Order: sequence, then C-alpha cells, then structure tokens
Amino acid sequence: MKKVRALDFDGEYLGVISSKEVSEETRYAKQYCCLDPECGAKFHWKKSYKRDENTREVDPTFARNPSSEHREGCAYDYEAIASYRSDVSFMKEGKYFLRINFPMGSHFTDKNPRHGRFTRIQREAAIGNTGKKSVGSLEVMVKFLEGQFGSLEHPALDNLYLDYQGRSYPWSEVITEPDNYKRIYDAATAIDEKESSILAVVSPIYAIDRNRAGKARFQCAYQFATAAGHRVRLAPVLVAENDEIAAKIRSNMRGTFLVSARPFVPDFIQNRIGTPDNKGRNTQAYLHIIDQKQITPIDDSYWKEPKPAQMTLDLDFPAQPASKPKMK
Ligand SMILES: [Zn+2]
Repeated sequence: MKKVRALDFDGEYLGVISSKEVSEETRYAKQYCCLDPECGAKFHWKKSYKRDENTREVDPTFARNPSSEHREGCAYDYEAIASYRSDVSFMKEGKYFLRINFPMGSHFTDKNPRHGRFTRIQREAAIGNTGKKSVGSLEVMVKFLEGQFGSLEHPALDNLYLDYQGRSYPWSEVITEPDNYKRIYDAATAIDEKESSILAVVSPIYAIDRNRAGKARFQCAYQFATAAGHRVRLAPVLVAENDEIAAKIRSNMRGTFLVSARPFVPDFIQNRIGTPDNKGRNTQAYLHIIDQKQITPIDDSYWKEPKPAQMTLDLDFPAQPASKPKMK
C-alpha cells in the first residue's frame, strides 16, 4: 500500500500518510491502518530496498500485519482480489497487477521495439501467447475495475499497475482525467516513449474533416491546462483508423469515452503555445485509435465539469494543398 490512515496510540486519527513520508526514525511513531475506515487491517512500514543486482529501487511501502485481516469485501484487500481473479491479476512486491493485452498506445513500437529486440516474454505477451489470460480490451478492463472497486476513481486504484508486454504502468500515472489534460501535453512531448502512453477520458463533440490519409477525426471538448508555462485550452482530437471505430464514436457523440493512446501534438501547434497567435484557440492533441480495443464508452459522471458550453470553431489544421481534392 502506498498510503494508509495514521493513528496515534490513543486511536486518534491523524490523517492519511504516504509510505514516502515515513523514515527509519519515524516508522514506529504511529499506528498504520487500512484506508477503509470500517476495516480493521493494520500495517507496518517497509523501507525501500535495491533489487535486480542493485539496479532497481523498490519504493517503501506499507505491508499488512499478518495478525490482522481486511474486512470482508474491503476494496484494499488486493490479496483477496488477486486470488479470486488470479486468471487476470496477481500480486508482486506488495503491488496489485492487472494483465492487459490491448495496445497502451497506437504507436508501432508498442508491438515492435524501436531498438534491439523484445525478450521472448515480451514478444509472446505482444501476440497474446503467454498461456496466461489477460484483459483483452479497455471495455473489459472498465467492467473489471468497476466490478471489483466500484469506480475507475476509487482511491484503491492508486495501488494498481497495468502489466502489458512485461512492462508495468502505474494506474495513477496513466489515467488522465479531463481536469488533468496537462498530462496529455506532457505525454505528447515526453522523450521517454514508455512514459508517453496514457488512458484519457475524452468527450467527442463533432466530426471534423478527415485527414489526408482519409481517416475520420473528431474534435473533443477542451479543458484548460498549464502547458509549457502557459495556460492553454487543450482539446484532444480522436483519429479513427477505420470506419467501425468512427461509427462507435458517432454513436455516443457528446458522451464520454475512455481511450488508450499515445498523444501527439504537432510541432507547429507546440511552437505556437504562449504566442499571441495562440490566444483564444484550442491546442489540439491527437489521439490515434487503431483498434476497437483502445476505446470504450464510459459513464458521463467521469467527465469533469466544466464542459465548455460553447465550442469555438477554430479548426486549425494545415491547409489542404489546392491540388489535392478534399477527402470525404
Ligand atoms: Zn481493508
């Protein structure tokens, strides 16, 4: 557990504490209890340590005291969930992992490494041939998480990791809610490709021109974010690889979707941020959906207000060359 409830020895509640706020000196200063106030599970602090021939540091964590148990049905009882759903999930180093087998991003390097080779395990995971089951689409993942935890926003998901092709993605670092669209910009401009795949909550509001490759595109509602030191209206654009995906988006227009993608902000848009030229304009971030598995409608309650009441029609794409007919 990354966080627990801290109590003094008279049972007085002191607040939620993170494992990183505890040190060797203070580890015995408080009692550590499950985040569920109804639950009686007690924890102790475990300091960080090095593993894998000292190349990797394992974060400090809170481990359950074997003498105490979670209450029945406690959302923080990952051991129970992992044993009940051992087909798709497992525990490792005190963390809860869900095996997924849909592309985290749409980039070709998600299936083929940019440099060198994948290990056999990664290759088998990529083609879904590990002999282990996994969650095959975002839609199934949403059903699983809502079924186990009640909501995609349950604080227990802070301890969830997605396991894809032998890589682990902390849930708290890949899920991007509308009120944190800065992460889309950050992911689009990230240097480390591993860090740049995200799950984003978006709301498509209307179709825009197809791109030059003939792919349908949908403008999504914007949210304000601070990117590159400037306040910008960041508006995702969904690019649908095929017409089935486009139809799925059209069928829930103005609704809310979860998509997994690798965001892309073209240089000409990035260079404009903070300039007078960008005033009153949306900054578009493209999310390319190549596979149905990468997109699913979710409940509208996941959309964080304010949803812009009035959208500005300021479609700002490179002009189509006059010689090329506009694709329909
Ligand atoms: Zn508990």
